[in-house]
Amino acid sequence: MKSLNVTRRSLLIGAGGAAASELMAKPMPRTIGERIAVVGAGVFGAWTAHHLQLAGHRVTLIDAWGPAHSRASSGGESRLTRAAYGKDAIYTRMAMDSLPQWKALSAVSGLPIFVPCGILFFFPTEEPYVHDSITAHKAFGLPTDVLTQAEMIRRFPMINFDGISIGLYEPGFGALMARRSVQTLADRFVKAGGAYVKGLVQPPGSCARLEEIRLSSGERVQADRFVFAAGPWLSKLFPDVIGPKIEPTRQEVFFFAPPAGDRRFLPGAMPGWADFNGGDIFYGFPDLESRGVKFANDQHGAVVDPDKQDRRPTEAALAEIIGYRDHRFPLLKGAPLTETRVCQYENSSNGDFLIDLHPDWPNVLLVGGGSGHGFKHGPEVGRYAAARLFGSANVEPRFRLASKAETHHREVH
Ligand SMILES: Cc1cc2nc3c(=O)[nH]c(=O)nc-3n(C[C@H](O)[C@H](O)[C@H](O)COP(=O)(O)OP(=O)(O)OC[C@H]3O[C@@H](n4cnc5c(N)ncnc54)[C@H](O)[C@@H]3O)c2cc1C
Repeated sequence: MKSLNVTRRSLLIGAGGAAASELMAKPMPRTIGERIAVVGAGVFGAWTAHHLQLAGHRVTLIDAWGPAHSRASSGGESRLTRAAYGKDAIYTRMAMDSLPQWKALSAVSGLPIFVPCGILFFFPTEEPYVHDSITAHKAFGLPTDVLTQAEMIRRFPMINFDGISIGLYEPGFGALMARRSVQTLADRFVKAGGAYVKGLVQPPGSCARLEEIRLSSGERVQADRFVFAAGPWLSKLFPDVIGPKIEPTRQEVFFFAPPAGDRRFLPGAMPGWADFNGGDIFYGFPDLESRGVKFANDQHGAVVDPDKQDRRPTEAALAEIIGYRDHRFPLLKGAPLTETRVCQYENSSNGDFLIDLHPDWPNVLLVGGGSGHGFKHGPEVGRYAAARLFGSANVEPRFRLASKAETHHREVH
């Protein structure tokens, strides 16, 4: 079996790699071999468990349903990975440092996890987001093509660029196969000696120090430290500490069959894309593994309960997507709907992640708030979380619980 030593590999990436990351300036302490329970086997929990295991700890990963299950925020087929983040260069850096780790996982999985189809982000005007992204990419030495409308028309004939003046094309980024990647990571974690338990963790009660968690089956899991990476369920586990600071919203995704035999929608010919659209972003994917060309509106939908929301798509959302598709992708006019998915984002108040110690328990880390853009950062979230749990990361103020508000106003795109 080939080994997946992603930490070492990412350390060797050089100036763009983990060694230079400001989040990671302190060395990991040598307190290895602790018992750690990680609750939640989504992308954040699975990568955190992986990095804790690499650091030599005895890790138990627990999930109520399974890694990247159908209703998890990490479920479904695909996620974009891109580094363009406007002024929020912290996420440019995390996406960049995560990419080699995704590629390492992709290299050892049977089927691809990273699909290098490139990402095109296009804009009606050269707004600050464009300028700030270009500045960050230059600072990090990331290859990016700044394209005029004429260049985009020539390179990407499947898209109608009416009203679009500028595009950022990131050739090194692309699509991640979501469920496959988390399941592969969890599988490798178990093969490397980690424990995986299917079980519903009960909200911890009040105590001076958390020493065990209880499952609905009555079993108890004792550990020295705990990570709660419960995605949209985090508020249910910690209603007082987190509560409305993380708000799940309904998101609908649609797939359409490209014309028979048409190669223009294949990854490589067609990039992953995002239409900035004044901040009301639409995004999508080429025809990955013949599932269909995927479209979604990134705008937050209604606030939902992940256990109760109806997973059937709405006629209104479908009509909106078809209207958008027919305008921007006219070659797909009339394309049959092949599949749909209803998922949820788990939003922090402004889109910044939550990776912080529990205010009462220094041996408990809270991880979440992926806010519709977290997947691509899974490897670096996991690495930072593993270090943060042991106090060996430079604390990033934007990931602090104290920075999370109860009133939501999205700022990170
Ligand atoms: C439609 C959609 C499109 C997206 N597109 C992108 C994109 O293109 N690019 C990108 O980077 N990001 C994207 N995201 C965001 C990204 O997918 C999420 O931010 C990320 O997957 C969140 O992962 P997580 O591990 O925090 O949560 P989850 O994947 O939800 O994992 C949490 C896990 O915790 C478990 N759990 C919860 N409570 C308990 C309990 N009490 N006991 C045991 N287990 C429990 C759950 O079963 C679940 O498996 C998208 C999200 C959605 C929904």
